Amino acid sequence: MTDPSFLPTAPRTIPRDQHAISRKDISPSALRVLYRLHEAGYGAYLVGGAVRDLLLGEHPKDFDVATDATPEQVKHLFRNCRLIGRRFRLAHVVYGREIIEVATFRANSDDGSGDREQDEDGRVLRDNVYGTIEDDAIRRDFTANALYYAIADFSVRDYLGGFEDVNNRVMKLIGDPETRYREDPVRMLRAVRLAAKLRFGIDPPSADPIPRLASLLKEASSARLFEECLKLFLSGHAEASFLGLEAHGLLPALLPETAVALASNRNGALRRMLLEGLRATDARIAAEEPVSPAFLFALLLWPAYCRTLAMLQAQGMHVAEAERHAADRVTVHQLNTVALPRRFSLPMQEIWLMQARFSQRQRKRAVRMLAHPRFRAAYDFLLLRQVASDSHAEDIAFWAEAQHDPEHALAVAALRPVLAEEEAAADARGPRRRRRRPAAAGH
Ligand code: ATP
Ligand code: MG
Repeated sequence: MTDPSFLPTAPRTIPRDQHAISRKDISPSALRVLYRLHEAGYGAYLVGGAVRDLLLGEHPKDFDVATDATPEQVKHLFRNCRLIGRRFRLAHVVYGREIIEVATFRANSDDGSGDREQDEDGRVLRDNVYGTIEDDAIRRDFTANALYYAIADFSVRDYLGGFEDVNNRVMKLIGDPETRYREDPVRMLRAVRLAAKLRFGIDPPSADPIPRLASLLKEASSARLFEECLKLFLSGHAEASFLGLEAHGLLPALLPETAVALASNRNGALRRMLLEGLRATDARIAAEEPVSPAFLFALLLWPAYCRTLAMLQAQGMHVAEAERHAADRVTVHQLNTVALPRRFSLPMQEIWLMQARFSQRQRKRAVRMLAHPRFRAAYDFLLLRQVASDSHAEDIAFWAEAQHDPEHALAVAALRPVLAEEEAAADARGPRRRRRRPAAAGH
């Protein structure tokens, strides 16, 4: 099915003694799947991010398998297997909490022979056209993601020069970059994210079209963009991701109001705070401490919140009302791009709204503040704000002490369950205001 002239480099087999992938670094479940397929006479390969990460000496998060067996044939071989997906039919082989994804080689065929559908912008809606391993390689995004580790002889199969590109630490799109970005604009974010994660460069022909095509991201599914945001900023390389988004002109597409707010913040204080917060997030992940999407988005959208708040106040709105309006407006606007679930957007807004309460220090208010389920997050946020403007030292000193003040301790301990119960009751009553949005188009 593949026209070999389409392959830019000759296919290459890198034997076991010339690469660094060892079976002891592959999850035992993935090995079991590979061996079972192989013994049944099918081609069985580890593929994608796992091969790339293993070559780099990193520990892959998940292990994907590619095969020439159809999903139904895979299902016959494994009792613990279920078939999923409509756009892509995939087999999931389940071992306890680990899932090994087994995909049949797919082709990017446009000869109309298979089960494939595209919308008028060229985006793929559904494709179940099976193909050869070369076909499967070509439809992947980056050459570094298109390497196959064969269980048959422990070699790495390279059809597109990915082995060299991994060695040279470069992300290189397969095929014509503009066409591939138009097919799936999220690939622009993946380029930046994987470059940040792996400390790779982006090949100039793959990087050049990004600023020009960035606005295509607005048409991507907001649910998918939320997932991408978590991978960009909660995987331990948030600062590098942010700098990459900025450098490649993707910030206005992903976080439009924050991009505007940062551009109009002349002394750069908001950007400094943002970067400091992202560095702190990376440090927490390196130390295996928990991180929350609510805090992350509070940070990412803080510049937008500050700018909107200032605008509303300039229009004469009273401060407390302006704070609530700004929080709501920024959230609703951001939802057009990134589908931030309510369980994160509500605590995000609380973190913002609590900032104004740090200057109120009457005992009763202080106790209520200390007992608040979001106190710790809001206080950590205040510490970050000190980076941007040196004007919170007094508040910080007060609250640092108040947290350990035995005089408050009893009252705080008594109030905590009351507030938690109030919160649970509010959750049970459901959303304060229903905001219905039309279902996002695209993927
Ligand atoms: P990581 O899991 O470290 O974030 P990854 O490369 O494994 O990176 P996944 O989203 O797990 O990313 O995708 C697995 C593989 O599927 C990729 O390596 C790539 O070969 C292919 N792939 C993923 N997304 C796309 C896409 N948008 N277009 C084409 N191929 C893709
Ligand atoms: Mg992966």
